[in-house]
Parts: sequence; structure tokens; C-alpha cells
Amino acid sequence: MAAIGGYRGKILRIDLSTGKISSEDTAKYKDFLGGTGLGYKILWDEVKPGTKAWDPENRIIFGVGPLTGSGSPLSGRVSITTLFPVNINELPGTGHMGGHWGAELKFAGWDSVIVQGKAPKPVWIYINDDKVEIRDAKNLWGNGIFRATEEISNEVGSDVQVAAIGQAGENLVRVSCVLCNRSHSAGGVGSVLGSKNLKAIGVKGTGSVAIAADKKVWKEFVNEYLSLLGANNQGVVPTTPQPWAEYYGATRWNAQKGQYWGAANPPVETGECSADDLNRIGYRTHKGVLDHGDGPGQRHHVRSGGCYSCPIRCHVYTDIPALETKYGVSRFNGNTCVGNSFGRGFFDNITSGTETAIEASQLGSALADDYGLWNDYGQFPRDLLYAYRKGILKAKLDPKEYDSIPWKLLDAGDPAFLLDIMKRITFKQGELGKLFADGPAFLEKKWSEIAEYHQTYESSCWKDAHAKHHSSENGGQVGTLINMMYNRDSQNHTHSNYLANGLPLALQKEIGAELFGSPDAIDANNNYKPMNKGKAVFTKMSLIYLELHNSLTACNWTLPVWASPRKDRKYRGDVAMEAKALSHVTGEKISREEIEATGMRILHLFRALTARFMNEKDMRNKHDLANKWVFDYPADKQPFTAGHSRMDRADIELAKDLFYEEMGWDKATGMPTRATLEKAGLKYVADELAKQGLIA
Ligand code: SF4
Repeated sequence: MAAIGGYRGKILRIDLSTGKISSEDTAKYKDFLGGTGLGYKILWDEVKPGTKAWDPENRIIFGVGPLTGSGSPLSGRVSITTLFPVNINELPGTGHMGGHWGAELKFAGWDSVIVQGKAPKPVWIYINDDKVEIRDAKNLWGNGIFRATEEISNEVGSDVQVAAIGQAGENLVRVSCVLCNRSHSAGGVGSVLGSKNLKAIGVKGTGSVAIAADKKVWKEFVNEYLSLLGANNQGVVPTTPQPWAEYYGATRWNAQKGQYWGAANPPVETGECSADDLNRIGYRTHKGVLDHGDGPGQRHHVRSGGCYSCPIRCHVYTDIPALETKYGVSRFNGNTCVGNSFGRGFFDNITSGTETAIEASQLGSALADDYGLWNDYGQFPRDLLYAYRKGILKAKLDPKEYDSIPWKLLDAGDPAFLLDIMKRITFKQGELGKLFADGPAFLEKKWSEIAEYHQTYESSCWKDAHAKHHSSENGGQVGTLINMMYNRDSQNHTHSNYLANGLPLALQKEIGAELFGSPDAIDANNNYKPMNKGKAVFTKMSLIYLELHNSLTACNWTLPVWASPRKDRKYRGDVAMEAKALSHVTGEKISREEIEATGMRILHLFRALTARFMNEKDMRNKHDLANKWVFDYPADKQPFTAGHSRMDRADIELAKDLFYEEMGWDKATGMPTRATLEKAGLKYVADELAKQGLIA
């Protein structure tokens, strides 16, 4: 395909077994946009059911999309799709990475990279525009990500963008990640690179992404887009009363007078950051305060950072001298959200908002980002702490191993504990290291005590032992259904972003009625009403836009802009922004309906792929599940009463009915019907599923 707006026209394929490097026409995959859509399509076409995550036949697809590198707001993400090693059945899944790597790949002239096979010895891939080489990684293997990135930069120049694994990925630790730009990681996929003897992919690009739209039209579009953005998670009102703001509420728009990036030199005041000041969008979210508390969060915040072409800047860069003097790691670190909670997650005896808390956080972050260790959305530190506190580790481990672990440091709330425990897991030292390296799903199969724990609310655990992620507590049935759909934590923020926009409930309902056909799609937080059609539409839309974001690519951690900070628009956003961005970039006129049909196609394919790898047609009862606590906690409260998010079993069965109906899936099985697949242009998928006996 000739390079047109958005796309560069070719996809890179590298077979590490044969050393063959080839190029394919992007046009073949255009029905799936790019990113996850492309990843699912490659897995469907090329990976046979029964293949395991670490088999050379597995593919790992570094997927970028038509918007990546275009400068469209928040379009710098990469979707890394593969058979997901953390899932107990190694079903298809995706990790998402931000930073600048994805845009650089587009600048180098590629619309994605497919890696297959296994190199006979450790290698790294160097993409320098059209020139692609498989290089020896013997000097890199065994090193952490920071050192490996530095070595590659020394070899080819510091303008290279490097996505690499650390020792965790090399050692086939399932809970491992790929990481670029020091703090942007794709969780859970690191060991697939390790299994292929692939240390890193370095990219240098000197080209650009063409935008079909006229310059003036594009500029106006981008400004319009920026005007609809709020803060991180698309909070559209500030957290505190501001003279310019009509409303305030619980959002991440926490900028205010007297709040500082305190470790900047000189310190920078965020100020009020009014909604019409588009030059200060990056100051609206002070993630240091959100992640580390007001005192240390301001004191140690050097600057905010983030991904290519994103004004939100949700990453926190900190300077904590004590990290060097006490623990021997760099005083400078950066991360966001779950990355910042990794180290803290091992401790239940460190007070939030203290110096010790931020030290634990940033020491954990420094170690995890170098080892390439992933915390599975907090699940494995939670499991480890529980197993220790309940005496499970003492009972199960060899006494010599148990006594060699510095539990005294953990008991004292000393972050130095992380130096020992994270190394043990990265290098699979002892039984503890091996068990926890495999992650929560494999651990619960071995230890029944952990399986029982995962059924409790305290574990925060969802089905298949993956962590809950904006589940029943976010939209009741909507969050519940969404958390049932994927083979890892759902990573869906479409619904939670809308629900956390901070607008008054009446206004949320009013806009919700326009978006989902009924004001009853939206409930007051923790006061959930029975299931209805509006909630089924809300769920479907949330999933469609998640897949669209991950395929275009665009950041689902803030998008979509379904509500906005604009009073002149009565706080309405624009549901068609993704379609407009794609139209402007590619020059093709793509309507909202058309882009949503594409999102549906991607969802159907993912569903079919999951069923095919499970060899299961009863997705309703075998896949779309929730752990016990979702229906039983709190025990002293009944569903549909205020103050909690306990769900009702019969109501969730009704929720499945209504949702499957919206999706065109069979109510009895939860499988896409032949008619639905054919309408979506997926006849070949229907035929294959029928051959396998999964649909008629
Ligand atoms: S909101 Fe954060 S994660 Fe998303 S694109 Fe922006 S900087 Fe990256």
C-alpha cells in the first residue's frame, strides 16, 4: 500500500528462527486499523489453537495505528499483543506501552512489527528507517533495562528509542514487562520476548506521518480536540472550588494556587489552570500529589512527563536523594499510577503520604523498571503480603529459605525489603521466587489458601486471578461486565473516565441519556440500581472505544471526550472525535457509525479468538465470570442499597442477556452468532468457529 495519510504502508515481519526480515502491505489489515485490532488478526490468521505463549510459533505484535505519530492528541501508544503468559490458559491478551517508541516506529516507515520464531542466541533488533538488522545481544543479556538501553544508545546513538526487557523477561518470569523511555511499560508480555531470545527493539526514524487534511483544518481540529480535554482520566472539573469554575468534584484536575512541582529549580507553581487555558493542560494533573500525597508529592516532584503528543503529562518525575544514600539506586525516577504503587504494595505498615511511603514507592519503581518486573496491577505484592501475614509462607517454604528472607525489614516497614524480595522474584530464587514469578493465576492453582483468598473482597482479585480494574465499583453492572470480557485485567477506562468526570449526577445522567439512550445508564456511585438497556449500551460503547483507542492508537487512560470542561457546550464533549481524527489524518471520510462498526469487528474477533483458544462455546458460563466477593460483599448489605457495590447474581445474568443482545451474541452461549460475524465482514471467522463446533 502506498503511504497515505496516517499509514506508512508497510508492516515489518521478523522471523527470529530463520533470520528472515520481510515487509508486508498494511492494506491487508486495514479493516482492523492497527494496534490490538491488527494483533488479534495476526493471532487469528497465524497462530494455531494449542500454541503456548513461549512457543516459537507464538507471535508478538508491536502494534501502532494510523494516528500514532500524527500529532493527534494522546496518540502515542503501542499495543503489544500475544498469547498472554500471565493468563492460566495463556489466552490472547495485550499490554500497552506509552512513551515515544511508537511514534518513532512510524517515523521509521513502519505501521507495526510482527516478531515470530526464536533466535538461537540472544539478539536485539535495530530498525533504522528501512534498514533492519538482527544484532547480537550478548553484551546486553543479563543486564537490566536501564543498562541495556544505555548500551544500545552507545552503539547506535542516543536518538534511538528502545523498548527492552530486563532480567525478569529473560528469566521467563511471567509477571514481566517490556519498557521504553525509562518508565513506560507494557505489562505481562516481557517473557514472550525472553522466550524468543529477544532483548530489545531499537528504532530510529527520520521520516514523518503524513496528514491528509489541509494544515488549517488540522490545526483547528487539534485545537478543538484540546478544548474538549480535561485532566488525566478526563476529569472535566477541578477538585477544589476555583473562581473560573462552575463545578468542582472528585477528579484528577487537582491544580490550584500554592501547589508546586517542588523539586524543580526554581519550583513551578501549577496555579489554577482554567479550562480555557490550553497551554497549561499539562499542569492540571499534579500526579505527584495524587500518587504520593500532598507533602512528599509536591516536595519531590521535578516535572511531569508523558507520551508522544499528549498534553496531559500523567507521569511523575521525582528526585529523592535518600534513594541513593540509603538504597543505592538512582535518586531520579519517573512513573505513574500502578507503577508508583508497586513498591508500596508490599507494605501494610507504612503510612501513606510520608517520606517512607514515597521512598518505598520510588525504590520499587526503580527496581521494577530496571528488572522489567510487572506487579499485575498490584495482585502479586498483595498475594505475597497475605501469604506472609497468614503464615502460609512459613508453613510451605523450606525453613532455610524462609529464614533467609529479611522479614524483619518488612515488619519494620523498611523499603530495603524490596531490594531482597524483588531480586528473588526476578531471578526465580528459591521456591518463593519461582512461585511468585509465575503470577497469581498459577499461584492459586498450587496453593488452595491463595485460591480461597482470591474469592474475598480484600484480595481485590477478579476471575482467573487477575486484579480487578474499575470493576463493579465503577458503574455496577457496567464495570462488572467489562471485567468479565478480557483474559487479564480489563485495562478499560472508557466507562470509569466518564463516571469520574466530576460533573454533578444530574448532568452526568443528562449527557448519559444522549450517549446511551437512557439517563438510567448512570447510577450514583455506590448506589446501584437494577440492570437496564442503557447500561448494556454503555458497556458496549465502553468496549468499542477501548478497542478503537488501542487500535488507532489513542490513550484510553484519558479518552474518550464524552464530556468536556466547556460550559459553552453545556459540558458536552464529542463522541465523534476518534472518527474525525481518523478522517482528517487519512483523508477518508469516516463516520462515527463506521468507526464504531470497526470497533465492533475488532471486539467480535477478540471474542472469537478467545473462544477458539479455549476451545469453548459456553463463554457465558465458562469465561464471563466474577469472583465470589462481587456477589457476597459486604455480607451485611443487600444489592441495590446505598453505600457499596455488591452485585446481585440474577441481575448480572440479566446484564449478560442485555449486553449479548446489544453485541449480537448468542444469549445462551455468549458467542457471536454467524449472522453477526458475517455482517461484520468476518465470514471466515464464522466458518472456522463452525468447523471447530463452536457456533452453528
Ligand atoms: S494520559 Fe498519560 S498515559 Fe495517556 S497518553 Fe497521556 S501521558 Fe501517556
